[in-house]
Amino acid sequence: MVICCTMSYDLVSDPLALGTDEMESALLERDKVGVQDFVLLNNHLSLDEFIENLEKRFKHDLIYTYIGPVLVSVNPYKDLPIYSEQVMGTYKSEDFYELPPHVFALSDAAFRYMLEENRDQCVLISGESGAGKTEASKKILQYIARASRHSQEVEDVKERLLESNPLLEAFGNAKTNRNDNSSRFGKYMDIQFDFQGVPVGGHILNYLLEKSRVVGHAPGERNFHIFYELLNSNDVVLLEKLCLSSDPQRVCVSESEFCIFLQTPCNYRTHLDGQSSQVTVNDTNMFKVVRNALDVCDFTPEKQQDLFAIVACVLHLGNLQFVQERGSRTQISDEKNVAIISKLLGCDENILFAALLNRTVAAKGDEVKTPLSVEQAYQARDALAKAVYDRMFTWLVQRINDSLTSKHLCEMMQRKERRTLFGLLDIYGFEIFENNGFEQFCINYCNEKLQQLFIELTLKSEQDEYLREGIEWEPVEYFNNKIICDLIEAKPMGIIAIMDEECVRPGDPTDETFLTKMSNNIGGHLHFTSHETADKSTRKKLGRTEFKLKHYAGDVTYFIKGFLEKNNDLLFRDLKKVMTQTTNSVTLDMFTDKELENKKRPDSAATSFKQSLSQLMTILMSKEPSYVRCIKPNDSKRSSIFSRSIVEHQVKYLGLMENLRVRRAGFAYRRPHKFFLQRYKSLCPDTWPQYSGTDKEGVQVLVDHLSYQPDDYKIGNTKIFIRLPKVLFATEELFAAR
Ligand code: ADP
Ligand code: MG
Repeated sequence: MVICCTMSYDLVSDPLALGTDEMESALLERDKVGVQDFVLLNNHLSLDEFIENLEKRFKHDLIYTYIGPVLVSVNPYKDLPIYSEQVMGTYKSEDFYELPPHVFALSDAAFRYMLEENRDQCVLISGESGAGKTEASKKILQYIARASRHSQEVEDVKERLLESNPLLEAFGNAKTNRNDNSSRFGKYMDIQFDFQGVPVGGHILNYLLEKSRVVGHAPGERNFHIFYELLNSNDVVLLEKLCLSSDPQRVCVSESEFCIFLQTPCNYRTHLDGQSSQVTVNDTNMFKVVRNALDVCDFTPEKQQDLFAIVACVLHLGNLQFVQERGSRTQISDEKNVAIISKLLGCDENILFAALLNRTVAAKGDEVKTPLSVEQAYQARDALAKAVYDRMFTWLVQRINDSLTSKHLCEMMQRKERRTLFGLLDIYGFEIFENNGFEQFCINYCNEKLQQLFIELTLKSEQDEYLREGIEWEPVEYFNNKIICDLIEAKPMGIIAIMDEECVRPGDPTDETFLTKMSNNIGGHLHFTSHETADKSTRKKLGRTEFKLKHYAGDVTYFIKGFLEKNNDLLFRDLKKVMTQTTNSVTLDMFTDKELENKKRPDSAATSFKQSLSQLMTILMSKEPSYVRCIKPNDSKRSSIFSRSIVEHQVKYLGLMENLRVRRAGFAYRRPHKFFLQRYKSLCPDTWPQYSGTDKEGVQVLVDHLSYQPDDYKIGNTKIFIRLPKVLFATEELFAAR
């Protein structure tokens, strides 16, 4: 019921689509609920008016608005009845502009375009943490699963695609102060279709998991969901096997027994404030969901056992304590834990014991064993916990990919049959925290790259097209963030290159020497400031161990501590070697002898990330993009608050006003002359059945006959450009009625 009323509301928000009689009441209605496409608002729209339109719509639970083909979505922080099967049915095969804006409309348009034009698609979802990216990506996946064709074999693929979501969320998402279910990894998923539009498989690429969370997190936040889900699973047999419950009578294990949850354990359920969202997450239930997803995705009971053994192993590793008595070597205070860990991984206890306390270094052909200090032992332990969890996550993605490769797909690949791809990118949004470190640096760098792509693909390509087509056009000023991407990734003097160099420099490189090196080399850059390079007023606000980057989305101050260590991402060889000698299938798959034999220094964390981002950009550039730009209405996860200042900031940095300016200066539709003439030539006696001149002239004759107003269209060198959708609709109607 509610949805019907929402829709009719929204339809009238485009009064241009109505006759004059209805116009007046429609305009009144529009005053209340805003318009559904910013392109339809008055000509010189200010930022305030833009936000007012979003606010009006938000207040009426109309969370979606278009800027031409771009979908803007405002997080409602409450469940709206707009995602039902019935609503999905309404959007199926409807023209994009015929129904109120919706993520289903965007999905449908991209999906149909893929089928009709045989063009790979990708939907790029952006916005800051908590803005609704992951939810949007789930809705799109649901829609595609429903809209695509059915076949028995395909049902399996669809179910697996859908189930891969809760699975990856359990292992890769966590509660942060911004979002109760924040994705701590980037994800790009391709759904593969055969020529009939049947989904035959899928493939997921994962990006940079925030593995430091495994060994610590900010107050009020949580570690990855799976730890809590496992501990609250009530699965006594499993917990006992994993040595997580010594007392068979006590099914629920207390989080306070594990050091990786900080000293003050934060419970999801008790920390979700009642007003913020209706979602009540129950770890016990979620564990069942995870189990089911594992079953669906073909994880055998043995594989599942191995997977949970790794999760448990990380919990036990966190409890390992090191001590050093005067004059003696570092000791492990509770040796029982080592026995448990070696049992879980299936390795020799003594070898693990030795590897946790010593480091073997090759010196002049000999191998020398050096005992670790207490501090080094803790670092080595944490490095192991992070590495094991991180590789487990990648292993999980690989196994999911195996299960998404259907028999049908393998046969198609053998026959070299063409597949069309529908890609979905859901990657961490821009982050500004109280304390920003290496992880935020990488995440924000990634967002810079995506913004670059957006600029490249929409703003610039649009302008370039007008230039190419010889259409008169006033250039739109926009901020090109390439300068920041260059600052980060240039060689030899970008931030990453300087960091890498400092990581391998002999001597005693520290985070502080890295900072000094940056100040010396890029101190003059407009987007970089450190204490040393700042002017007087900024200097007061910037500590000696901080640097500030002027990102496209705002200024972020980074705390230098930990940069080198995280970039180095060093796991001692001794521990790596133990992992290759385990029987657990996860560690055995992910730590190989080949890696041990490789003498070359592995790429730094930032450099590997840079490379994978660059590959991602290539993938995305090769596809037809659609955009969802997500906005969060407030910082407190509340459903009814629309904070203008918070929205304004996002509208600014997402470049939505520029986007709108380009779109308006621009035209909603464009078609090559040939196709336009071909389709509509029967509507004009002079072009039917064949026009004797050029296509371009034919189009002119045709639109003159159809009484297009001079403002409605422009004729370019190869294409006709039509400003408003309604003009094309009218022509399309004539065509249908002929
Ligand atoms: P992001 O991925 O951008 O960090 P999420 O998609 O995880 O953000 O959204 C954060 C939370 O906001 C979700 O857990 C959910 O409670 C709420 N939310 C987001 N989008 C919607 C929506 N369309 N409808 C209802 N709630 C939503
Ligand atoms: Mg997310």
